[in-house]
Amino acid sequence: MTAPKRSRLVPEVDFDRDGVQRGFVRLFHSTHASAYGFIPIPIVVIRNGDGPTALFVSGNHGDEYEGQVALSELARELRAEDIRGRVIILPMANYPAAMAGRRVSPIDDANLNRIFPGDPDGTVSQQIAWFITEQLIPRADLVCDLHSGGSSLMYSPCALMTKFADEKRTETLRQALIAFGAPLAYIAEPAQGQGADQTLGGVAARQGVLALGTELGGAGTVTPAAVQMARRGVRNLLVHLGILPESARLAPPSPTRLLGVAPDAFLYAPENGVFEPLAAPGDMVEAGQPAGRIHFPESPGLAPVAFAFPGGGYVLCRRVPARTMRGDCLFGLGVDLG
Ligand code: CA
Repeated sequence: MTAPKRSRLVPEVDFDRDGVQRGFVRLFHSTHASAYGFIPIPIVVIRNGDGPTALFVSGNHGDEYEGQVALSELARELRAEDIRGRVIILPMANYPAAMAGRRVSPIDDANLNRIFPGDPDGTVSQQIAWFITEQLIPRADLVCDLHSGGSSLMYSPCALMTKFADEKRTETLRQALIAFGAPLAYIAEPAQGQGADQTLGGVAARQGVLALGTELGGAGTVTPAAVQMARRGVRNLLVHLGILPESARLAPPSPTRLLGVAPDAFLYAPENGVFEPLAAPGDMVEAGQPAGRIHFPESPGLAPVAFAFPGGGYVLCRRVPARTMRGDCLFGLGVDLG
C-alpha cells in the first residue's frame, strides 16, 4: 500500500493556532535567477477556538482583481476576537499568474482552475492545485472562490453555485448562495459527459465541502460596485456559517435575482474579425434579436457577418476585446428561475 501523496509546499502558518497569522506558503522552485528560492503564495489564517472553517480564494485566475481587493481587505480587518472558528484566506492562489496579471501561469502556462485536483510532483501550478486540494479544502466547511471575467470577458456581477445530484445538498448550498446577498446569482447544472469537473469548486464538491463562486466583473479592472458586492458577500457567508455574529450581516441592496442555465447559454464567434457587440451585460434579449456583427476591415468591400441570439435570456457576460477569432465566446446567457 502506498502512502497518500503529501504536498511539497510549506505553509508558514499553523492552521490550528488561535489569533491572526499572515504569511506565505513556500513553493520551492529552483531557477536560473534563484537557485534555492521559493515562490511566496500569500496566506492568512484567523482562528478563535473551535467552530466552522471558511476558505476564501481569489487570484485563481491572475487577471481577476476584484476578489483580490476584497479578500486583502478582509485579511487586514478581520480580528480573531470577532469570530468563532476559523477563516483561511488565499488572496493570490495562482501567485505567479496574479503577479503577471495573467489568467494562466507564466511559468508553466497552466490554467489553475482547469487542473484540479493537481499533482504534488507536477509543475508549479499542479503543485498549487494539490496543496489546495489536500491541505486547505479538507479543513473547510465552505469554500468561496472569487472569480470575475478576467481579461477577455465582462460580467454582470453575480454569485454562483453548481447543483449537486442530491437535492438536499443543493438546497443547503442554495441557502448559502442567497445569504451571500448578491443582486444576481447563477445556478449551474452539474457538468455532464465532459469528464470530472477540474475546477477548485468541483474538487471541493467531490470532497463533500460546500462550494460557491462569483463572477464579479472583469475586463482586467476593478469597480467599486463589484468590490462592494464581494465585501458584503464574504462577510455574510461568515455570518451564515456562524463564524461572525448576526450583527455583522450587511444588508443587500436588493433581493437576489436567481438565474439558471439558458438553453442556448453561450454564443461563439462565427468568423475571425472585429466584434461589434449589439447587447451588453444586464440586458434582457429575445430569440432572433441581433447580437453582433463581425467586421473584416482587411477586406475592403466585404460586408460584415451579422448574427442573432438563438434563444432569449439575461446577458450575463460578453467578450471585451474586439479582435476576435472563430470559436471565441462572445456572450453568456442565463434565464430567470421562477
Ligand atoms: Ca475566472
